[in-house]
Amino acid sequence: MKKILVTGGAGFIGSHLCEKLLNDGHEVICLDNYFTGSKKNVIHLLSHPYFELVRHDVTMPYFVEVDEIYNLACPASPIHYQYNPIKTIKTSVMGAINMLGLAKRIRARILQASTSEIYGNPIVHPQTEAYWGNVNPIGLRSCYDEGKRCAESLFVNYHQQNDVSIKIIRIFNTYGPHMHPRDGRVISNFIIQALRNEDLTIYGSGEQTRSFQYVDDLIEAMTRMMNTRKEFTGPVNIGNPVEFTIKELAEQVIKLTGSRSKLIYQPLPQDDPTQRQPDISLARKELNGWEPKIYLEEGLLKTIDYFKQLLNL
Ligand code: NAD
Ligand code: UDP
Repeated sequence: MKKILVTGGAGFIGSHLCEKLLNDGHEVICLDNYFTGSKKNVIHLLSHPYFELVRHDVTMPYFVEVDEIYNLACPASPIHYQYNPIKTIKTSVMGAINMLGLAKRIRARILQASTSEIYGNPIVHPQTEAYWGNVNPIGLRSCYDEGKRCAESLFVNYHQQNDVSIKIIRIFNTYGPHMHPRDGRVISNFIIQALRNEDLTIYGSGEQTRSFQYVDDLIEAMTRMMNTRKEFTGPVNIGNPVEFTIKELAEQVIKLTGSRSKLIYQPLPQDDPTQRQPDISLARKELNGWEPKIYLEEGLLKTIDYFKQLLNL
């Protein structure tokens, strides 16, 4: 049994990770400031004898004795990370410094939840880990993209300078139960709009693409990554390489919900990437044959069920 700290543990991905780590027999400390996360996401874990919930902001130092740290604390949806961009940068950068300092002091292994956004609006397609990206350093997304890029640099430097055992994963668009209903991400927006028979809001032409990963596939990859040999630090792409246009996604959601909704077109936000697809060859090789298993239709149905319950439909 290990003692494991999950920052951002009351968020969408963090709550699934806490549950998986407890099920695997570990002791979990879930740290969150509840900016976008919620106690509701982990309420089913509160009675577990090896689960502990701590309200704390990662921009402040935190001390605890653990074997491993998963660093997820950071708003992830464009609406939320653009709400207070300075705070987003502080969370990524100061949060990384605080957690890396802790890992160094207590000799814990630490995993960083990085993102496909570090590739910006990619010119190389699909994206491999060797690609350096195409990020607008002063655009609307830069607080998130550059914050996460700086965090990757901090991780690598703590590893090289202080021999901290690090792991970096670059997560591509992930969806599933516990997504925030008002975080504005495309899957939650479309499902909620479809369930209410409201028009689905397509930004731009809908020809931009994304590759959607169901959360269970990500959680499996995260825990496998944490347990790889010390020399393998990543970064490694984690995502589902099957690529869809946003319009195809909208049509699929309407079909699966049986909704009467129509599509409406709204302006494309600034710096919205036109395409995104992970090359996951490295993950396949290093993560013990890991492979995303959940097809979009199956994952969408599970997520639709979740939102139906949440909205009392
Ligand atoms: P989320 O917003 O649901 O979760 C983030 C959690 O961090 C929330 O519980 C929030 O309250 C907490 N948090 C934010 N700022 C904090 C702070 N200063 N101190 C303590 N806690 C703080 O988002 P998510 O989708 O679960 O994302 C989790 C991580 O995965 C993030 O680091 C995100 O960048 C990364 N990621 C997610 C995706 C995705 O598609 N969901 C893609 C790439 C990367
Ligand atoms: N999007 C959309 N309608 C929405 C929300 C998002 O067309 O109601 C588009 C958005 O412009 C982007 C894609 O869907 O091209 C994915 O958006 P999301 O915010 O989920 O993630 P990200 O852009 O960070 O990949």
